[in-house]
Amino acid sequence: MFPHLLSVIVPAHNEADGIENTIGVIKGVLESCVDSWEIIVVDDGSSDATYRIIAALSQSDPRLKSIRLSRNFGKEAAILAGLKMSAGRAVVTIDGDLQHPPRLIPEMIEKWRQGAQVVDGVKRRRESDSSIVKFRARMFNALFSRLSGIDVQDSSDFKLLDRIVVDAILDELPERQRFYRGLVDWVGFTHAKIDFDIESRLQGEGKWTFRGLVGLAMTAIISFTSTPLRIVTVLGLVTLVFAVLVGGEALLSWINGEAVSGFATMIMTILIIGSFTMISLGIMGEYIAKIYEETKGRPVFLIAEKAGFDDDARGGEEKDGICPTCGRSNREPADPAECG
Ligand code: UDP
Ligand code: MG
Repeated sequence: MFPHLLSVIVPAHNEADGIENTIGVIKGVLESCVDSWEIIVVDDGSSDATYRIIAALSQSDPRLKSIRLSRNFGKEAAILAGLKMSAGRAVVTIDGDLQHPPRLIPEMIEKWRQGAQVVDGVKRRRESDSSIVKFRARMFNALFSRLSGIDVQDSSDFKLLDRIVVDAILDELPERQRFYRGLVDWVGFTHAKIDFDIESRLQGEGKWTFRGLVGLAMTAIISFTSTPLRIVTVLGLVTLVFAVLVGGEALLSWINGEAVSGFATMIMTILIIGSFTMISLGIMGEYIAKIYEETKGRPVFLIAEKAGFDDDARGGEEKDGICPTCGRSNREPADPAECG
């Protein structure tokens, strides 16, 4: 059923400087530990020569496959594209900049052979990162973990998934806004961990823009938890308490026949209620925007071209049930003699 034991998925966006080296390193590791493997490099709409390089490499080695997405859809989409096209009994997802050390793949395979269905690469330290990057990552992970109840502290996209987990993620989770790390945790199954040190980038620079990171954080939080909506209720309760206090005070003054006062209180009340209302609308707006995105039903990614695939991989799925002789849709194995 599965022609390969292991598929390795490498998302790459503008990695022309280092991708050949990365592939070489991964290949070296795989050759030492698995008989049958494939590497799928997903070019996520690079504007440099990334796809040209990987497509050329795929020509010379059939185990190396490449996909080019039609534009930059983001790392989450690139990983999903790779998962969809993968054919291995286990799948490893790894960054294309060697920050996830490929030499740990044999250890992951070992844990998988011992029965783990997911092996999570856990970041031990990020000393190579600048303090602002570390702060950003820590803030995001703490916020996400607190709000969603899913622990992504120190977790990474460096993972090995058994085919059963890949299929669960591909077939059972129809959502379009995807946060890979969160989903892999959410689906459950038997997890094992390996610790690794984030290596420093050899070539190029980190591809995340501040906007990209904020977008990922929003998708992650909104697609995993409705806690922020509850914050709206809490804001409502806070203003209610405030209203009772200020209202009570005003009423008392009126009963005692005191002069109208409290201009400062008035201004404060208006401002506080105004900002709470705006925040609440904003939070609800974010959820509505995500609902809107989901209902549009657009695909998560579009493939512009691919190289090195043959049709029996899962990636040829769209061809399942199509008679190879006449091309007509046919769920049964085709009998060429019956074709018109
Ligand atoms: N990446 C991608 N699409 C993007 C941004 C990044 O496929 O829009 C890839 C990138 O080429 C790399 C991996 O995702 O292989 C991790 O990206 P990066 O090194 O920029 O992020 P960091 O290491 O800071 O998490
Ligand atoms: Mg990186």
